Amino acid sequence: MRYVSTRGEAPVLSFEEAMMTGLARDGGLYVPETIPTLSKDEIAALAGASYEDTAFAIMKPYIGDAFTDEEFKAIIARAYEGFGHAARAPMVQLAPNHFLLELFHGPTLAFKDFAMQLIGQLFQASLSRSGKRVTIVGATSGDTGSAAIEAFRGLSNVDVFILFPHGRVSEVQRRQMTTPSEDNVHALAVHGDFDDCQARVKDMFNHFEFRDAVGLAGVNSINWARVLAQVVYYFYSAVALGAPGREVSFTVPTGNFGDIFAGYIAKRMGLPVDKLVVATNQNDILHRALTSGGYVTDGVTPSISPSMDIQVSSNFERALFDAYDRDGKAVAQLMDELKAKGGFQISQGALQVLQETFASGRASEEETMATIKSSFEVTGEVLCPHSAVGVKVAEEQPASATPMITLATAHPAKFPAAVKEACGQDAPLPARMADLYDRDERVTEIANDLSAIEALIHERRAH
Ligand SMILES: *Cc1c(COP(=O)(O)O)cnc(C)c1O
Repeated sequence: MRYVSTRGEAPVLSFEEAMMTGLARDGGLYVPETIPTLSKDEIAALAGASYEDTAFAIMKPYIGDAFTDEEFKAIIARAYEGFGHAARAPMVQLAPNHFLLELFHGPTLAFKDFAMQLIGQLFQASLSRSGKRVTIVGATSGDTGSAAIEAFRGLSNVDVFILFPHGRVSEVQRRQMTTPSEDNVHALAVHGDFDDCQARVKDMFNHFEFRDAVGLAGVNSINWARVLAQVVYYFYSAVALGAPGREVSFTVPTGNFGDIFAGYIAKRMGLPVDKLVVATNQNDILHRALTSGGYVTDGVTPSISPSMDIQVSSNFERALFDAYDRDGKAVAQLMDELKAKGGFQISQGALQVLQETFASGRASEEETMATIKSSFEVTGEVLCPHSAVGVKVAEEQPASATPMITLATAHPAKFPAAVKEACGQDAPLPARMADLYDRDERVTEIANDLSAIEALIHERRAH
């Protein structure tokens, strides 16, 4: 399997190279040259399989000969052994035809662990074979950073630097990033918002001299391996509800478009998915783009679902690439326009393609709070604010006989203040991390300034 850039100008890479590279050198994102498909029988054969066995079957065609079957199975086993639930991604029922897929049983209590734990194991296997060292740099609105630090802490061939927006992540998110004591972990509180952090990371990748000097590697959701890991739970949950004999739909709380793009890949692979619903909070650029065709940034308004406070959704570029018939030049032009003018208009043809696959909706802050409350009262399920955005948007979809699966992207204990205010319930941390509030923090505040950040990375990383 080979990987090509969405902007058409970067070298074609293998799985392992694409994983280590992150952002393509032409500024684009790597995607597989072709999408492998599973037959109905192959999907049916996944019924009753463990999460790990499902993961092996779904991801195997994408990794080529990067690892032997035995190695890859061991990597998958190590990635998910630290999860706090035997099913890894259990489902609960909210209403007669509405299910909640709980993706928050990993070590940092958000769905990011599904991809990041796997990437940590893949990196370790690959680097210990090559003897190379890498510097991982990532931007986070809260959950990616904690998941990356948890996955890479203490690994011998890796330094990990995480940029998060100072004062804009929840206390649990911050503590998960600042309390690990390993020397290879570096949490940077940037004076700026998430889009600033993400832009500085992109700048570092486009600064080739720096990139090569420190061996930069990326684990943001632009990394194809992350998208791939997330494809698994779409199959796992759909099969549990009767796929391929029965269609399902998904509603996905969306920020950077990584998670829902994984659902799109599952559909392209042959999973019978009816609707993929993009759920946004008040930062609704994706909802506006999918309804009007205008992808226009207008600043981020902080919300109670901070992991979705995003205007520039990196992975949307991958969806555009397919919607424009894999025309890298057209995508590069749109991205240039976005950079120069803060927006672009999706062509009529591409918009139609996108609308055939994706529906969308938005939940206001009030609606999100009301949904946490009503969900608790009606079902006993305590939702985190992100999951509540998803549930609200799912409930607004036209009635259908097709089961709806809403992705619960974080554990309510990551956002206890909003949860308490909404439904009066405390959201305690699971016992295995109950001492989080007592651990010492270690963090560096830094200006939203590329050369200052690069200088710090040069100085701190192990040589
Ligand atoms: C990252 C995150 C999201 C958004 O996921 P994307 O892949 O960026 O769309 C939603 N909810 C939570 C809790 C998250 O951590």
